[in-house]
Amino acid sequence: MPNIVVVGAGVSGLTTALLLSKNPAYSVTIVAKHMPGDYDIEYTSPWAGANYLPVAPESGNRWEKNTWPELARLAKDVPEAGIHFQNTVSYSRKKDTDTVTGQWMKELNSTTPWFKDVVPDFRVLPESELPAGVDSGTAFTSVCINVAVYLPYLISQCLKNGAVLQRAVLTHISEAADLHHSGAKADVVVNCTGLLASKLGGVMDKEVIPVRGQIVVVRNDPGVMLTVSGTDDGEDEVLYIMKRAAGGGTILGGTYQKGKWESQPDPNQALRIMKRAVELCPALTGGKGIEALSVIRHAVGLRPLRLSGVRIEKEKIGSTWVVHNYGHGGWGYQASYGCSEGAKELVDEVLAPKSKL
Ligand code: FAD
Repeated sequence: MPNIVVVGAGVSGLTTALLLSKNPAYSVTIVAKHMPGDYDIEYTSPWAGANYLPVAPESGNRWEKNTWPELARLAKDVPEAGIHFQNTVSYSRKKDTDTVTGQWMKELNSTTPWFKDVVPDFRVLPESELPAGVDSGTAFTSVCINVAVYLPYLISQCLKNGAVLQRAVLTHISEAADLHHSGAKADVVVNCTGLLASKLGGVMDKEVIPVRGQIVVVRNDPGVMLTVSGTDDGEDEVLYIMKRAAGGGTILGGTYQKGKWESQPDPNQALRIMKRAVELCPALTGGKGIEALSVIRHAVGLRPLRLSGVRIEKEKIGSTWVVHNYGHGGWGYQASYGCSEGAKELVDEVLAPKSKL
């Protein structure tokens, strides 16, 4: 039986482990420094919204396109996964075209994006439905994930398939080969270490940088999931609102600050986030202003951006085969099944000679 060790218990590691553990021929161990339930600045997945708002261009849409069917199935048929459908509106302003956030959301801001035929109910908004200052907009049905429910759900599915979870802090990726729960050497290691891929021995990927995201989590209900291409408060400040499923609260975002490691919320930034959200969506507080926001917490997460694109590759490091799946920036959930399928294909390739024995 091939032995596989997945390093990382964020959405990337758990989804990859889930797909691998569906194959009864594979024996899977997940090792990680942080697990669901932990809140740490080195561990991105618990801080995410998280929703499905595609940002990849059509030429690179495999990961996001192949993820939608599974997220939609979970929202429809698996309530315990903590995902629900949401009416979604995306606004675009011409003045954001060349900004950092405008470039990041270029596909999302298009009125003819590739995903118009993927998500249900896609339509271009008439001018009469656009707020002041907005030049175009689209509406569609998407999903929002309560990550505090969804990450434990992924663990439960891995455990059901026989995977074993263990804590470990690696200094070099090849150490993972000795951590399979059977005590035998792993035949392949899967590297889903997110932001820490920049610091892990044997990987040390300097292309991986943090993109700081500050958020406010509130109890108020916006009634709709909203996003705008930019704000007037600086190129690295953004505006999005999403209500998580199953009592997870509403996320007000945010920031998109490349290269910033600061883990503490900035009070001034928090004020701007709340002001922008209530201005765009007065329904949040029934027209009563930001004083009527019921704040659950202020928080910061670091998106693990790889400047040259996500790394889904196999590589022999010393005597160990490693399959990488890291560097998902701000779209790790919405591409999770597509990327994990890609990583699983590479694991299958590495193990093919052994499987034939
Ligand atoms: P992580 O979640 O960081 O997991 C890495 C794992 O590797 C951890 O378990 C860690 O302990 C382990 N690890 C690392 N190094 C070692 C080591 N040396 N030894 C042992 N274990 C190690 N994405 C969306 O799709 N939609 C959204 O709406 C969305 N909103 C976001 C909002 C915010 C504010 C932020 C910050 C992010 C958002 N994202 C969103 C992005 C998404 O959260 C990330 O892309 C995703 O969580 C990355 O997951 P990961 O599993 O690759 O990394």
